[in-house]
Amino acid sequence: MKILIAGSEMSPLVKTGGLGDVLGSLPEALQKLGNDVRTFLPYYRTINKLKPKTQTVISEASLNMPAGKIDYQVELLLDENSSVGQFLIVNDIYFGREGIYFDPATNSEYSDNDERYAFFCRAILDCIQKLNWQPDIIHVNDWHTSLIPVYLKTNEKNNKFFESTRTVLTIHNMAYQGKFDKERFELLGLPDDLVRKAGKMESFGQTNFLKGGISFSDKIVTVSQTYAKEIQNDQGCGLEKLLKKRANDLCGIINGVDYSVWDPAKDKHIFANYQISNLSGKKVNKIDFLNEIGLSPRSEVPLIGMVTRLVEQKGIGLILQSAQKLFERDIQMVILGTGEKKLEHELSTLSVRYPDKLKTFFEFNEVLAHKIEAASDIFLMPSKFEPCGLNQMYSFKYGTVPVVHKVGGLADTVTEFDPETGEGNGFLFDKFNSGSMLAALNRASLLYQEKRSWIKLMINGMKLDLSWNKSARSYHDLFINLFNGGDK
Ligand code: ADP
Repeated sequence: MKILIAGSEMSPLVKTGGLGDVLGSLPEALQKLGNDVRTFLPYYRTINKLKPKTQTVISEASLNMPAGKIDYQVELLLDENSSVGQFLIVNDIYFGREGIYFDPATNSEYSDNDERYAFFCRAILDCIQKLNWQPDIIHVNDWHTSLIPVYLKTNEKNNKFFESTRTVLTIHNMAYQGKFDKERFELLGLPDDLVRKAGKMESFGQTNFLKGGISFSDKIVTVSQTYAKEIQNDQGCGLEKLLKKRANDLCGIINGVDYSVWDPAKDKHIFANYQISNLSGKKVNKIDFLNEIGLSPRSEVPLIGMVTRLVEQKGIGLILQSAQKLFERDIQMVILGTGEKKLEHELSTLSVRYPDKLKTFFEFNEVLAHKIEAASDIFLMPSKFEPCGLNQMYSFKYGTVPVVHKVGGLADTVTEFDPETGEGNGFLFDKFNSGSMLAALNRASLLYQEKRSWIKLMINGMKLDLSWNKSARSYHDLFINLFNGGDK
């Protein structure tokens, strides 16, 4: 099958969160299943700074956008580690900026994000016609590429080139829908009726890109089975009714882990490699890391790690509310994150109050993320909602025990450890409040003192195979079924 995958971030070229991880590894996994996979990504300035080797495949092209004629080029990445064709859409006005979605100078979203990603979607459709490459499946991800199915079923409806192409939308997080002022809708070059009241791209008086994707894609995937149910109920962020209406076309496929990046046996970023057969490296990581960040190494005390975007979703509020109780215990904690300045400030205040117990780092730092995975005993994810969650899956591999709120993908991957049977791989709490979180952390901390049980628990997680093998196969089967029989 010919599969086009479009997205706004792809690791290692550009990543701000889980979307980047997924689009950095799923294409390769689908290629290994015998497909011809090609990915499309904007050529952001941050990518340009990496000076990747590329070859120009389209040197001059232009689109007639409502705002005027916009030129673009297309570069093909020359990456010897990848068998996937990776295409970069070049337009300096839209993508040659310091930030990806946000302007670092003002810390606010670029005001023309609607235009930027509408252009990206249209350039992809234009480019593949110029290259005469007809995909069987176009797989779009989140709101940024949600306009592709919209353009295909409106403006391009009678275009024979796309006659047999089917579309699949993966929703990585319902909380980000790409909502814009309706006044700007005309910049997208789409029929007006889409944003009339109750139109296919209108919600609560705004233009809504994700709603367009949900309305027009042939199939919809979200990143865990539990989240697929949740978004039809209380986690639909205003689109639950529409999602319920499309329930027959909606399914959950859990993300996979790229073990070429996240494996303590091979990880180049950590202090010592280790695996199930020899766990001594895990201790080395903890000691060296604590020394590095200025906390005294104490093997009898659990080190709790967090790597996260600092937004309400991630349950940072629970940590702030329970801080006194949390830090009166004998624990050590390290938090790496970027996001809301208010949360950074409050966490930073806590680290000043508890200098021997808490260290905070407010930066996006891939190496530090790996070190925290390897050094920590416990990985905390108290997310209010969590579509899939990747760090709990990375944590398993690193023998770092996840303590999580039982929602979305966290509920689908973490099972409560039972000291009697020795089964389970982590600790969960049901209610989203600080008391439940502290109780789960307490259970974990108590078990940490039972060395034999703790090692059993670590190994239960390390043994899991959460690679892309199974999930890529699920995508592959979905694509094949759609291509063979799905109605357009
Ligand atoms: P989300 O996509 O909601 O941010 P996920 O758990 O799906 O959450 O994925 C987050 C990814 O981003 C993980 O790979 C995590 O390690 C990474 N990450 C988040 N914040 C940082 C940071 N400050 N530095 C480095 N990596 C980070």
